[in-house]
Amino acid sequence: MTSSPIESIFTPGLVAAQQPQWPGGADGEQIRSAVAQLKKLPPLVFAGECDNLKARIAEAAEGRAFWLQGGDCTETFAAATADSIRNRIKTILQMAAVLQYFASMPVIKVGRMAGQFAKPRSNNDETRDGVTLPAYRGDAVNDLAFTLESRTPDPQRLVQVYNTSAATLNLVRAFTTGGFADLRQVHEWNKGFASDPRFGARYEQLANEIGRALEFMVSAGVDPEAFKTVDFYSSHEALILEYEKALTRIDSRTGLAYDVSGHFVWVGERTRQLDGAHMDFASKIQNPIGIKLGPKTTPEDALAMIQKLNPSNEPGRLTFITRMGAGQIREKLPALVDAVTKSGAVVLWVCDPMHGNTYETSTGYKTRKFDDVMDEVRGFFEVHKKLGTHPGGVHIELTGDDVTECVGGGEQISEADLAGRYETACDPRLNHTQSLELAFLVAEMLRDR
Ligand code: PEP
Ligand code: MN
Repeated sequence: MTSSPIESIFTPGLVAAQQPQWPGGADGEQIRSAVAQLKKLPPLVFAGECDNLKARIAEAAEGRAFWLQGGDCTETFAAATADSIRNRIKTILQMAAVLQYFASMPVIKVGRMAGQFAKPRSNNDETRDGVTLPAYRGDAVNDLAFTLESRTPDPQRLVQVYNTSAATLNLVRAFTTGGFADLRQVHEWNKGFASDPRFGARYEQLANEIGRALEFMVSAGVDPEAFKTVDFYSSHEALILEYEKALTRIDSRTGLAYDVSGHFVWVGERTRQLDGAHMDFASKIQNPIGIKLGPKTTPEDALAMIQKLNPSNEPGRLTFITRMGAGQIREKLPALVDAVTKSGAVVLWVCDPMHGNTYETSTGYKTRKFDDVMDEVRGFFEVHKKLGTHPGGVHIELTGDDVTECVGGGEQISEADLAGRYETACDPRLNHTQSLELAFLVAEMLRDR
């Protein structure tokens, strides 16, 4: 990697939606200083790792692997603790073990982690009791507390994003290669969950089946070393372009640009304007890229995005993450999948069953119903089955802790229960139990496919 100036690869003067209003302006002293610091820092991930992930996505796009992406809506600096990181990794590994067994195919494990610190917002401002302040845009930009000082964007936070991501990734790499991810250990955790009386015998039977398969492999002399490490990739929304561009470097092997702030980055529903700065950015980097597609997306939009981001149809380059809502997935998704398939373009189709299913309770909590989440996933599988395409994966907002942010699931969290442990800084996440339930239910769909 070299850190020679590469601004010239990005088209100047394009509109960038959802950017913070930094003090002193977009070209002010503060932001320029933060960017200068970031440019000197080493990469968080390596270009070769991004290429490995791309190759695995190519496999999934051809129907030979399943994608599991999960983590916070927005990470916070305060929650980057050993316990919180471990619980999130543990949850994703547990889900992956269940999916892998029932899908009989590799599962690509990806955290919304080590970089997911910035949020697009519907409004620039927030008003409470007659006081109007800038909206919270994630720890990358400002602080959640409702005071002028907290809400004023501070570019030095971008440097803290880098440092917190580095610390998080360090722990992720240690956990996933240092024995913690041993498949037999993951299975022991799942057994504990599945025998919980709140869920009945249903999951226990599935967990026992995995146990027997593991015992069989061990008794047959399969090298247990292979069970001990897993590949785990980092991902986040490429939202704050100063940060992403400062961490874009030229790969010395190929002379091409990679965003080394994460293995996989995606462009959100609110920033994917074809002629906007985010799409220009995504088109210039070599990482595997995701694009969120909401219910208003037309087949023409999808084809234009393919043309912009992957005109050569490079395998694994492009993932479409659909987020239609349970009520619309069966109606809206078929035309998109059909048009893309007919065009000959190969993409990975992933279902985000979270962002189309958010509502506010009468008591003011942003929440999601577990049943709506599951219904959207079910609709996603139905559509792909009908069209003969691969339901390639799921994208989930989750945490490893026992929070009460989404209603329903085996613990039957009610709207009244939400107040108990509602901790998210932005969107509601599935808790540990709900996440595992989702994994078992998706596993059944994969098996019955
Ligand atoms: C998100 O993934 O947190 C998000 C903001 O999603 P979307 O771009 O789909 O609204
Ligand atoms: Mn979200």
